[in-house]
Amino acid sequence: MTDLTSLILDRIRDVPDYPQPGVLFKDITPLLADPVAFAAVVDALAGTYRVDKIVGIEARGFILAAPVAHRAGAGFVPVRKKGKLPSETLEASYDLEYGSATIEVHRDAFHPGERVLIVDDVLATGGTAQAAVELVRRAGADVVAIAVLMELGFLKGRDRLVDVEVHSLVVV
Ligand code: AMP
Repeated sequence: MTDLTSLILDRIRDVPDYPQPGVLFKDITPLLADPVAFAAVVDALAGTYRVDKIVGIEARGFILAAPVAHRAGAGFVPVRKKGKLPSETLEASYDLEYGSATIEVHRDAFHPGERVLIVDDVLATGGTAQAAVELVRRAGADVVAIAVLMELGFLKGRDRLVDVEVHSLVVV
């Protein structure tokens, strides 16, 4: 196990049956509270990508994506749950591991052909990431990769993301 892997795994708390029975929730708050682990994760998510914009997915994706944008010298673009963005939006709906949802991005969030890295905390079924990829592309930008802190490998979310690079810091 690498130092980064144990730094992450030791600081993610498993919460059974949250937010509903049968879901093992990956709570990243202990990791965020540790300055060394938080900084290491931000550096690793930023990787070596040369991008114009970092997209963060509401809500925990924001916490990671904003410092990644700063680190990468890129702009930050929020993808939010429906009804939260003030200006004109594009929207996409998808199924979640628990429930379903619609996410939105501002229609004018990107210049044509901008290079984008999408950041989130957990890749589960891949529905959220797939919808975010669709939104970024419909808004006229290029998705360079998706970077997540943790991938739940058994849910095979990666299989839905056939035409995009997926970079996970840990797979469980
Ligand atoms: P999915 O669309 O199934 O890949 O779900 C990914 C989104 O839901 C991410 O934004 C995660 O924050 C959240 N999520 C899904 N499953 C979990 C889980 N077991 N623990 C923590 N967050 C989760």
